[in-house]
Amino acid sequence: MIDVPAAQQLVLQHVRCGSTASIPFGLGCLDRTIAADIRAEQDSPAFDKSMMDGYAVRAGDGNRLRVVGVIPAGGATSDPLLPHEAMRIFTGAPLPLGADAVVKQEDVQREQDHIQLSQTARVGQNILRRGSDMKIDDVVLPQGTLINPAVLGLLATLGCTTVPVVQRPTVSVLATGSELVAVNQKPVGSQIRNSNGPMIAGLAQSCGAEVINELLVPDDPTRLRSAISACLTSDVLILSGGVSVGDYDHVPKVLAELGLVTVFHQVNMKPGKPVLFGTIGGTLVFGLPGNPLSAFVCFHLFVRPALLVMLGRSPQITPIPAQLTIDCHSKHDRPTYAPAKIHSIGVEPLPWQGSSTIRALVEANALQLFPAGEFHAKAGDHVPVLPLK
Ligand code: AMP
Ligand code: MG
Repeated sequence: MIDVPAAQQLVLQHVRCGSTASIPFGLGCLDRTIAADIRAEQDSPAFDKSMMDGYAVRAGDGNRLRVVGVIPAGGATSDPLLPHEAMRIFTGAPLPLGADAVVKQEDVQREQDHIQLSQTARVGQNILRRGSDMKIDDVVLPQGTLINPAVLGLLATLGCTTVPVVQRPTVSVLATGSELVAVNQKPVGSQIRNSNGPMIAGLAQSCGAEVINELLVPDDPTRLRSAISACLTSDVLILSGGVSVGDYDHVPKVLAELGLVTVFHQVNMKPGKPVLFGTIGGTLVFGLPGNPLSAFVCFHLFVRPALLVMLGRSPQITPIPAQLTIDCHSKHDRPTYAPAKIHSIGVEPLPWQGSSTIRALVEANALQLFPAGEFHAKAGDHVPVLPLK
């Protein structure tokens, strides 16, 4: 049976960054990935700019100066500053020609049309020089940048009315199981509500993918076949349930009939061993086990890296070391990925009642990796974890 890292590499061999789309500037750009380097179309600031409310002066002109004008933010003057002159200036306003310093108004004594400086001005003080933030043609936002609110502000500064972003992969989510009912139905007998469908759709959307279908089908090969067929227009199909070896686990067989090229089926891990990955035409197909925690862990280990790469981002599959805050003893028959919580001081595994419960995940922000076999670690030891975000 294949190990997790090898299975992840196989997934990555089947994905590449999506094509470029141009979208209008606005809040819709948030969380998208920039698809091409964005350069400055002009210097910023475009002029030598005052960073203070005060007086524009010529440094070395002496401490008593005549005030000859006013420049508010958004204003300008074409009059040059002559020797022993000052101009009233406000934050953000352009310096007049000849001025090379701004003196804060707090450091000035005003006497009618004159000012008295308490200290001699230094060249460049309180001035943001033209081009000091960015120079024309600088790459300000490189390809691959994730658009957060600060980036949105920069895009506005740069005047990007349309933004080149990586196309979002489309995702269909198909929950399978005859025991499942929708959220608005009351389960009777041994029925349960379909929690994987919304959870997986939410995970996919959180990664930045576009969820175009979220369906629920019973363990019926005919209905399964038509539901899967209907989802094959999407870039990624994520199934939950029915991938194991039970009599009602029809997913592998139906996928095979529809032309699945299997890349792997079963991975040496816990939870989530029955996981399946393959392709049908251009669609990546992930079959996640139905147990909610298994589905969650398999999504993080296999689906998320694929979606991130398709979105022009790094797959984030490398575990990082975190310091345990408590002693930890375990015995697992396979390498195990358990819900855990990283605090500012370290990590601790969360209580976990088996793969059928997702309650532990509400608090989790990481998966902690445990090796197969007996494992003992003390508080303060470093253990590998995969952050969930
Ligand atoms: P399966 O992988 O189909 O054998 O399902 C394993 C377990 O997960 C069973 O107990 C199912 O009832 C449960 N399960 C399967 N699909 C879902 C789902 N969509 N939501 C919640 N539980 C599920
Ligand atoms: Mg099932």
